[in-house]
Amino acid sequence: MRRSFEAVVVGAGPAGAAAALGLARSGVDVALLERGAFAGEKNMFGGLLHRMPALETVFPDFWDRAPLERHVVRKSLCFLTGEAGFTVQFETGAFDRPPYNGYTVLRPVYDAWLAEEARRAGATYLTRCTVDDLILEGDAVRGVRVLRDGGEIRAPVVIAADGVLSLTALKAGLRAPRLDPDRMAVGVKALIDLPRPAIEDRFGLVRDQGASMEFVGCTAGVRGGGFLYTNRDSVSVGLVLHIGSLRDSGRTPYDLLNAFLEHPMLAKLLRGGRLLEYSAHVIPEGGYDAMPRLCGDGILVAGDAAGLCYATGLNLEGINLAVHSGLLAAETVAEARQSGDLSARALGHYREKLEGSFVLQDLKLFRRAPRMLHIDRLYEAYPEVICGFMERVYRIDGSPKRRLGKLLVGTAREKVGLRALLADALTAWRSV
Ligand SMILES: Cc1cc2nc3c(=O)[nH]c(=O)nc-3n(C[C@H](O)[C@H](O)[C@H](O)COP(=O)(O)OP(=O)(O)OC[C@H]3O[C@@H](n4cnc5c(N)ncnc54)[C@H](O)[C@@H]3O)c2cc1C
Repeated sequence: MRRSFEAVVVGAGPAGAAAALGLARSGVDVALLERGAFAGEKNMFGGLLHRMPALETVFPDFWDRAPLERHVVRKSLCFLTGEAGFTVQFETGAFDRPPYNGYTVLRPVYDAWLAEEARRAGATYLTRCTVDDLILEGDAVRGVRVLRDGGEIRAPVVIAADGVLSLTALKAGLRAPRLDPDRMAVGVKALIDLPRPAIEDRFGLVRDQGASMEFVGCTAGVRGGGFLYTNRDSVSVGLVLHIGSLRDSGRTPYDLLNAFLEHPMLAKLLRGGRLLEYSAHVIPEGGYDAMPRLCGDGILVAGDAAGLCYATGLNLEGINLAVHSGLLAAETVAEARQSGDLSARALGHYREKLEGSFVLQDLKLFRRAPRMLHIDRLYEAYPEVICGFMERVYRIDGSPKRRLGKLLVGTAREKVGLRALLADALTAWRSV
């Protein structure tokens, strides 16, 4: 194994593979190090790859070339109680033609493809190569120590793209040793095998069209929500649960997931499906205010390692931010090499690039979103208000009707109380 490169990227997830691809395309001699037997071996996520214009610049034929499952034409938000559900749905022909707005993907396939593209562009791609320390000269990072061939791999610059628990950012002193459970979530997911015709019939899809569903009210009061995404011939379904709230509830993620899968509305969609795998992973949900430092002497941090991920309740975005930040990190390194300066000051342009892009602009815009997601009533009381209201609207039982406004206020007063309703509405308004 070679011991020296012009740059090293730690982690071949979307951020790392994009960074290595960008560097290799700029003619930089880069090593992409992945601890798994292949990129994506153990990587998981909900399943929705949002549109990534930066990657479409690298691959103008992205949607023909990448291993995508389905392009998403319909997005739904469902409020659930134990036996009822109210769904808001949006579908458009605009999402059914290129440039598509988003796709479902399976990470082992997608991540392996992107890492392979980095290798084809010229990156040295080393798997089963776990980084367990940094090589430091003073405060400057000068390479990594790996659990492979007992080795050191030297490089004047390292991009840390090793995910939410980034050991690399920790060792470089860029993030705090303890992660705050109130700013982290855990995702648990089941991959359910379903024949293609069953998926298309049940979800009303044709060709490679896909559907995405988000659920509120399926977590027994624990802060969080559910998701369901259609793949080609399987369905990804799971829960995202805030760790602090989960800990306080005393519940286990798998019990909550099993109860979710048995909800009458879900059970109907998944009936006859065979469980292929369960998986779980941590999500950084602290947003803009929980980001670590993004660079030091000889090091940059990208993707989840930099906390570049956020949830608004309608979307959970991470992969598009990871890929974009990886490409911007690569661009910064390529420019800094030309000036011969890889100090924290020179690499600081990375932050400016992120600030100038949707990555930090969106994170900033939604920096208060975590506050809204901490309204506990969102997860049980409000789904009951919405479903209770709809039941009263639709139930015809011979009793006199009431005006809709009065009915809604009456239901909200019963379940939540007007003061709390107004306070929550104000928090939500300020958050998004
Ligand atoms: C349940 C769940 C649902 C989600 N749903 C969505 C969604 O629908 N849409 C969306 O856009 N985002 C979603 N996300 C977020 C998204 O998955 C992440 O934001 C994204 O994967 C971040 O990419 P990354 O490359 O920064 O990190 P990762 O994907 O975590 O990749 C890190 C890589 O580094 C490797 N690695 C780690 N440590 C080392 C080491 N020491 N040495 C070598 N290699 C190492 C890992 O094996 C891995 O390959 C979800 C996340 C979860 C958990």
